[in-house]
Amino acid sequence: MGEIVGFVCFKCNYEKSYFLGLGFRNTKEKKLYECVNCKALKASVLSIPKCSKCKNSSLIKLDDYEKNFNCPKCNSENYNFGISGCWD
Ligand SMILES: [Zn+2]
Ligand SMILES: [Zn+2]
Repeated sequence: MGEIVGFVCFKCNYEKSYFLGLGFRNTKEKKLYECVNCKALKASVLSIPKCSKCKNSSLIKLDDYEKNFNCPKCNSENYNFGISGCWD
C-alpha cells in the first residue's frame, strides 16, 4: 500500500499530490525529494534523482512534510502539506 502526500498553495490554490511508497504492481519504492538548489519537489524511485526543473542532482529525501515549501506555480512560501491518503 502506498501513501498519498499532497500539497496545497494557500495563495494561488495550486495543488499537487504525490503517490509514494509501494503500490500493488510496483517493485520500487517511490520517495519524495526536495531540490537543494531550487526547492522544487520531485517523486522518484531513483536513489539519486535529478531535479526536473533545474537539472541539479543535489536532491534530499523528504521525511518532514510539515514545513512550508515553495509553490511551483506562484513561488510563494505558502505551499503546505494538506492532502494525505492511501493508494494501492
Ligand atoms: Zn532544482
Ligand atoms: Zn502558489
